[in-house]
Amino acid sequence: MSDTLFAIYGASGCGRGVMPLARAHCHAHNIALEQLVFIDDGRISDEVNCHRVLTFAEFMAQPADRRFVNLAIADSRVRERLAHKCAENGVLPWTIRAEASQIYDDVVLGDGAIICAYVTLTSNIRIGRHFHANLYSYVEHDCVIGDFVTFAPGVHCNGNVEIGDHAYIGAGALIRQGKPGQPLRIGAGAVVGMGAVVTKDVPPGVTVVGNPARRLEKGEKHG
Ligand code: UDP
Repeated sequence: MSDTLFAIYGASGCGRGVMPLARAHCHAHNIALEQLVFIDDGRISDEVNCHRVLTFAEFMAQPADRRFVNLAIADSRVRERLAHKCAENGVLPWTIRAEASQIYDDVVLGDGAIICAYVTLTSNIRIGRHFHANLYSYVEHDCVIGDFVTFAPGVHCNGNVEIGDHAYIGAGALIRQGKPGQPLRIGAGAVVGMGAVVTKDVPPGVTVVGNPARRLEKGEKHG
């Protein structure tokens, strides 16, 4: 395995939370820890939590036949841009999953996901690329989730829900169950505020907050 390099892209909050999962993966697969680094283009230190920090250019300059990267940056637009850059440079997406997570039957998970500790994905679920499921989140049966979707910690996504690309679901949000053939829909690029209780569809690009969740108007502040 010495010809393969592994990286967590982003050495800030998200990346530092994901690195221990990556390290556990390396232990389980006999990958030397020297082969696991952070990439951060704005790095303020050469080392973070005992791992080397390289810029992308430095990472590409390391001798390796194969390179795997997990994009551990919460901003989904940044993830998308970096996913293109990695693909153009032949860097492969790397999915990272905590041992203390559960995935049941017929779950299709796109490349480059982060499945944190105590996340459960139940059955018959489709999820796109570079999904982030933060601590204690769940996705229940028959959900369809797009690309570059982000769940902050403790999101409860009940069954028969559809979520569009680049949606962001804040910490502790509850999403009501849809019906078979009539899913509850959260549109592409929508934002669900922390602790919101979503009881009906959220249009694309709209921010909702509160219980029951209501649209946050332009210029209005949350809280
Ligand atoms: N970053 C990077 N290359 C980019 C964009 C961002 O290396 O093209 C890094 C940035 O330097 C920062 C991290 O990604 O260290 C994002 O950290 P931030 O605190 O903004 O967010 P989070 O860790 O919560 O995703």
